[in-house]
Amino acid sequence: MDVFLDIGFTLLGGPNLSPPKKIRSVLNLPENSYDRLSEIVFAENHSKPESLIDSVAKFFEIEISNGQKDEIIKFWDSQYEDVYELDYATELFSGLFELGHRVHIISNLWFPFYRKFNEVFKEFIPKLSSQTFSFMDGLRKPSSKLYQNAMERSGADPGNSIMIGDSAGNDIVPCATLGMKCIWYLSRDLPDSKLTKKRALVASFCDIYEVKNLKESLELIKKGL
Ligand SMILES: [Mg+2]
Repeated sequence: MDVFLDIGFTLLGGPNLSPPKKIRSVLNLPENSYDRLSEIVFAENHSKPESLIDSVAKFFEIEISNGQKDEIIKFWDSQYEDVYELDYATELFSGLFELGHRVHIISNLWFPFYRKFNEVFKEFIPKLSSQTFSFMDGLRKPSSKLYQNAMERSGADPGNSIMIGDSAGNDIVPCATLGMKCIWYLSRDLPDSKLTKKRALVASFCDIYEVKNLKESLELIKKGL
């Protein structure tokens, strides 16, 4: 089988405020700037915070003060320092390789999180069959083109593939649409009203398995789902 893994809040946890939200709040940008900020953060290739800050300033035609720059740089650094492995992520990788599955990554990511991913899981990186990252491809989930890239890169057949991810909209719906089996990892506590809405999003698909931890994911895969 080909198993695709998301990274943020599937394998690694971090500060609750997402990068676009944090940057929006530092710069006092309006609510509707979120999508464009997400595009700059996740779908542009910035390996230094300064180039990301320049891109934001240019798009929104704003002056960013030194204090605001420092705050964004501090946040960039914290996205490396405060990011941690979620329970059972290492065991999941080991288990999947032991079972002989081909393992792939598909993730909306920015550079500091990417660095951390490479460090935390360094023993598994050379064994990965393919890696698809939003900031490298210039596209972000749930873009069907990003998933198409991942499928082409991996040579996987969606009908013989499994996705493990935490996001109903970004991971589960697009993969279920492609005909993949999906393990929906509810890694963060959500208020009931939000969870109900998310369940409604995925309700029309079969082959979606909700789990509360990654151990259950591996058990499901061992059992052949
Ligand atoms: Mg995620």
